[in-house]
Amino acid sequence: MSTSETDEYAIGKCACGKGDVIKTMVTQDNPWSGADISFRVDCNDCRGKWELDRSGQQMTLRSSLVAPKQASDLLMHARQFLDEYIRGLSSQYFMAQSFKTRKAEHAHLIELGIGTGSYRTYLQDRKHSPIQNVGYPSRNAAFVEKLIKTYGNEKHYFDLLKAIADADAVYKAAASTIVRYQV
Ligand SMILES: [Zn+2]
Repeated sequence: MSTSETDEYAIGKCACGKGDVIKTMVTQDNPWSGADISFRVDCNDCRGKWELDRSGQQMTLRSSLVAPKQASDLLMHARQFLDEYIRGLSSQYFMAQSFKTRKAEHAHLIELGIGTGSYRTYLQDRKHSPIQNVGYPSRNAAFVEKLIKTYGNEKHYFDLLKAIADADAVYKAAASTIVRYQV
């Protein structure tokens, strides 16, 4: 006795036109299970070169994803450099404060608008991290400005911002070269 039924049919041509994109529907022999639907590329040329999305509607050329992925990593690094720089400065700020308790620290972060979560979560996070790593200094632009002016170097800050803007432009240009094919 069969417990499931498999139907397969072509829903369109692959990117090179020599093969098909196949939809597979596995239907269980009972009324409570939904059909299991999947798609695949039935073409030896396209299978390795192209990636099919889960909807089976779009193929993306794998080789065209390499440059955008590299650009996206560089953009992420540029953002991390800025984040680390600001956290470093905020560590100097926090060292200059004299908090009597963890509760006072948490209240100060909330007041600055750079703290998240409850006091209980804060205590948990603080066990493993210094105060500047628990809050998000970048969320308060005025606070960041104050940090740069008091402890930082404006030129360095603008260089980091410029690096992010440049990396972002490179990423957008790379992303626009991704080759897609509608099935
Ligand atoms: Zn093909």
